[in-house]
Amino acid sequence: MWIDSHCHLNHAHIEELGTPDDLIKAANEQGVEGMLTICCKMAVEMPELMAITEANDNVWCSIGTHPHNAGEKAEKEITLDQLINFAKSHKNIIGIGESGLDYYYDNSPRDDQAESFRKHIRACLATGLPLIVHTRDAEEDTIRIMKEENDGTLKAIMHCFSGTQWLADQALEQGWTLSFSGIVTFKKALELQEIAKNTPLERILVETDAPYLAPTPFRGKTNQPAYVIHTGQFLADLHNITHEEMARATKVNFITLFDKIS
Ligand SMILES: [Zn+2]
Repeated sequence: MWIDSHCHLNHAHIEELGTPDDLIKAANEQGVEGMLTICCKMAVEMPELMAITEANDNVWCSIGTHPHNAGEKAEKEITLDQLINFAKSHKNIIGIGESGLDYYYDNSPRDDQAESFRKHIRACLATGLPLIVHTRDAEEDTIRIMKEENDGTLKAIMHCFSGTQWLADQALEQGWTLSFSGIVTFKKALELQEIAKNTPLERILVETDAPYLAPTPFRGKTNQPAYVIHTGQFLADLHNITHEEMARATKVNFITLFDKIS
């Protein structure tokens, strides 16, 4: 049974496929037993995300600010203490993020992205919750900030991993985990497939990032958690193990990392 370690059940366009409850049910029917729905704007999304987790078993959420939104006033006003208290206040909030740096879109000023990222890392260190990292065209700054802030206890996931071998090596060396999305199934993603193949099994997670980035054979369509099995099966084939073995390994990795659920 699979776990989708990163999706957005409340984001635009996913409603065309059904309500969050419909999507969860469809995923369950395909053998996806759990999922983590990710927060991008804590000032507005948390009530909705918590309601989804409360209405459904084995659906959890994170709390955090996407780098795209790091410059927004309402996000900047949330203090580190407020973030920590909010994260501790609810049993279904099991991770911090997604947070990080995005120099590809630069939707928020880079200073704001860095400040928000540091706040999120500090919240992880204070709560023991894992950090869900988004990084694009900002590998060196991402690793530098994570290393500067880390007191040695930081647990982190490089979500939707699509970086270089250098980034993979840096993250793995620090004990962090790589989460692979539908991108790894794309025909031309040969370098990424090589990285996924060489990532130790105990450091792999699988995700959809739904409604974005649907895996082959649904590329270009609106993504949903049920499709995580296609990426998971692709990863199993890369590792020359059965689909069941990959499902079991990524589930164990998820539960070990997000230990607030136990
Ligand atoms: Zn995401």
